[in-house]
Formats: sequence, structure tokens, C-alpha cells
Amino acid sequence: MLVQPARRAIVVGAGPVGCLSAMALAKLGWHVTVYERRSDLRAASLQLLHSNTKSNPRQRSINLTLSSRGIAAVQAVDGSILERLMNYAVPLQGRMVHCFDGTVARQQYDRGGHCLYSIERGLLNLLLLEAAASVANISIEFLHKVQSVDFNNNTLRLYNSATAQELEEHFDLCIGADGSHSVIRRDLMQATQMEYSQHYLSHDYVEIRLPHGVDGSGNHTFLLDPDHLHVWPRGDFTMVAMPNKNKTFTCALFAPKSVFDSLPRAEIFLPWFKTYFPDLCSLFDEKRLVQDFQNNPRSHLITTKANPYHKGATIILGDAAHSMVPFYGQGLNCALEDVRVLSILFQREKDGHNPTVITRVLDEYSRTRHADLVAICDLAMESHLKLRHDVATWSYMIKAFIDNILYAISRTGSLVDLSQTISGPEVPSGWIPLYSMVSFRPDIGYSAAKKKAERQERLIDSVGLGLGALSIGYAAWFLFSVVNKLVAGY
Ligand SMILES: Cc1cc2nc3c(=O)[nH]c(=O)nc-3n(C[C@H](O)[C@H](O)[C@H](O)COP(=O)(O)OP(=O)(O)OC[C@H]3O[C@@H](n4cnc5c(N)ncnc54)[C@H](O)[C@@H]3O)c2cc1C
Repeated sequence: MLVQPARRAIVVGAGPVGCLSAMALAKLGWHVTVYERRSDLRAASLQLLHSNTKSNPRQRSINLTLSSRGIAAVQAVDGSILERLMNYAVPLQGRMVHCFDGTVARQQYDRGGHCLYSIERGLLNLLLLEAAASVANISIEFLHKVQSVDFNNNTLRLYNSATAQELEEHFDLCIGADGSHSVIRRDLMQATQMEYSQHYLSHDYVEIRLPHGVDGSGNHTFLLDPDHLHVWPRGDFTMVAMPNKNKTFTCALFAPKSVFDSLPRAEIFLPWFKTYFPDLCSLFDEKRLVQDFQNNPRSHLITTKANPYHKGATIILGDAAHSMVPFYGQGLNCALEDVRVLSILFQREKDGHNPTVITRVLDEYSRTRHADLVAICDLAMESHLKLRHDVATWSYMIKAFIDNILYAISRTGSLVDLSQTISGPEVPSGWIPLYSMVSFRPDIGYSAAKKKAERQERLIDSVGLGLGALSIGYAAWFLFSVVNKLVAGY
């Protein structure tokens, strides 16, 4: 019997991962339909771009940072899209830590000019959406909410909210890129014995827009150094600010729910803000600051872990498979990397449209990707403590200094061609700081990076312990000889 080649792929969700997945599949010869529950996101994104004051309550954050993993993933699908994205991105060379005592410390992200790129979320989504919509074998259907999946018959049940009708669609391959509260994941949980966990962080966040300044000639200017991501670590809570291309900054206050609950009125909020962020406060118009704080949405942060990510011909990617807290700036980068990894697994097959091959590829993806996804979720959580407390401490700065010295004198293997390579368990020799491996070395898998960094940290700790023991030993010997001399004098 002749097996008909599978041709029809459905992608659920037209967020960044949905759009990139659709383009990657189209390149592999699939006819792709993207179903998105919202109305045309292009209109919403344009609206967001032209609004300088408030975030759209349906968007979770105004801007985010792209680093090498996200960049490599977009590049693998279409280099020209990457060029367009970069036109709207602001490069960040490092972080600037604003300590409570008023001192400011600059911490470079990496040697060799590697940067993070801050870009408006709405704009990123818009550019990817436009790129996907312009591909001949991709069609995007808005106002279509996926309600359930039938894994045995490869069908999706949808609700078209424009016509108020239900419909059923058949697929040969389905990618669930429907975000943190994924319907596809919900159904996968029932159909597979999925191991699943979710954890809400005790901290919420609120975003506040820092407007641009104006110079003597009337030109718009940045009110903070635009080459850096700014952090105000205050122990239990922290403020982060990232520049936008229009010379504004997006600030995000991350704090325990109890702190937000204790600041309901302007008379309480403003003195509190002035106490903890005096340098930042002086840049705001107080009325606008209070308005933003009170009116902008207060959002939660969730970590989800799942395993496996597929059943039959259906798979979840991006936040649908792994939501993480944003403190490593990797949620989207990792999500875009999912697309690159899956595409490479398909490219390695001669007959990627054959149903048996599809199941085998998805199986391999679930099996090989899991350790990396868990590792980055954990690293993101650990980074929360670093960002709100450690980065301002001497012990962190000394360790980072030693880390960077060893990196500078170490020979490390260079990047390989990523269009065919999946980051795996092998790590290059030499000393590479964890931040550099995670953000700038997409050839190193997250879990391999985590393990290598743990070994390096143990070494720094034991050298530190050794030096500490030596100094205590020397001090003890010195004290002993002084006492001895004194006693001998009597
Ligand atoms: C405060 C904050 C800051 C962040 N900063 C960074 C950063 O600096 N760097 C970084 O890499 N990541 C960052 N992230 C993470 C990043 O935002 C996410 O990882 C990324 O948006 C995930 O993209 P996605 O396409 O998987 O999901 P989403 O962007 O959530 O898109 C899902 C899409 O699916 C649609 N959908 C949902 N359900 C259905 C349905 N039933 N039917 C049809 N359509 C549906 C939705 O409408 C949406 O369009 C941050 C996150 C937060 C919260």
C-alpha cells in the first residue's frame, strides 16, 4: 500500500514561536495553517508600538532581550528577518548595578563584544508575523481558538469567534505554540503520562515606562545609559530597566505580593519609591509614575516543566512546554531554539513527511531536549536571587572577577556552524563563565553549561577556601609567635 506523504501542518498560536515554527515548517515543504485566538495581532502590535505610555494589558511585557540562541534560531530560518529585527534592537553590553548606597557598578556581559539586544515585544511579534504572512505556503487564521486535540485522529476542534462557529481541522503535524496556559499541553497531559509541574513565584511584577528626555536642541535623549541593562537590587525586591529604540526605558518592579499589597495609595507608594530608588525617582514625573504603578497590570511569574512534549504527531514548543521566570532573559531565546532543534531533527530525515518518521522525530526531540529545558528553568530561578541581591555584594564581584580573568587567559573552542548542529552535552575545553555559555554560546546545551559552571564554581570556591585557610593559618601562627615572645619576656 502506498503511504500518502503528510503535508498539512497546523501551528497553534501566532506568538513569536508560532510564527518562527510556521516559517521553519514551510521551508521543509509543509503547507502550514496558523490558528490564533486573538484578532489580527498586527493591528494590536502597531497600536502598542505607537503608545508610549501604557502597556497593553494583554501583552505580558513591553520589551525583552534577544541573545545568541534566539538570534541563531531566527538566522537558521531566514537571515533577512534577523536583519530587520536588529534594526529595531538596542545592544546592551552589560548590566549597570545601582546599589542602595548610591554607588554604581558596571558589569560587562562578555569579552569579545557579545551583547544582548533589547527589543519591543510587540515589534518582535509584528515583524515575525509579517514575515510568516508573506510566505506562500503559510496561512494565518485569526479569531480561531483551539479548544481540544484528538490525538488518535489528528484533528483539532476550534471555535471561530468571528462567525461563532465550531469547526474541526485535520493535520499531519501539529505544533502547539500556545503559550504558558496551553490547551494543547492540557490535552497532552491527559493523553500521555506527562510529568508536569508548575510553580508560581512569590514575586509579581509591574512595568513602568520611563519617558525619553529632551536635550537643548529639542531632540529626544535617553535618561539612563542606553548601553546597559539597569538593575536596582534591593534584597527582597528589585527594579530592572531596559532601553527601547524610541529612547524610553521599560522599568519592571519585581517584588513580593505583600510589598505590592502594602503600597496601594500614592501617599504610601511615593515615599517608598523615593527611599529605595532615589536616583531613578528624580527622572520621573511623579504623577505619571503613580498612574503607571497603579494602572498598569500586575502580573504573575510562573515556571512550568513537562515531559514528554509530544504524542503521535503533536508537539508543544516554547512557553507551552516550558515557562520560566525572566531573570536570565532566556524564555524566548530558549523557545526559539526549540524551533531550531526540531527543524534540524527533521532536516536529518530523508522523508520528514512520513507519519512514522514524524513520530520518531518528535520522540527524539522529547528525549533529547528535556534535560536542557529543565536546566534553563532552574538557572532562571537561581538568577532571581543573584539579580535582586548577589550582584551588589563583594563576594559576587570578586568571584565574577576571577571568573573573567580565567576566561580571558583561557583558550576556548569557537562557535560551530549552527544551521546543522544541535547543542549537545559536549562542552569545549577551557574556562567559560556560565553567563557567557547560556547567553552567547548556543553550541553548548543548557544542561552541559550548567554542569560545567558547577565544576568551575567548585574550583573557585576551593581556591577561595584554600586561600582563606592559608590566611587564617598565617594569622594564627603570627599570633602564636607574638604571644610566645611576650611570655618569653617574663
Ligand atoms: C516580564 C517578562 C520578561 C521577559 N523577558 C524576556 C527576555 O528578556 N528574553 C527572553 O528570551 N524571554 C523573555 N521573556 C519570556 C518570553 O516572553 C516568552 O518566553 C515568549 O513570549 C514565549 O513565546 P511563545 O510564542 O511560546 O508564547 P506567547 O508569546 O505567549 O504566544 C502564544 C500565542 O498563542 C495564542 N494562543 C493561546 N492559546 C490559544 C488557543 N487556544 N488557540 C489559539 N491561539 C492561542 C496566544 O494568543 C498567543 O498569541 C519574558 C517574559 C516575561 C513575563
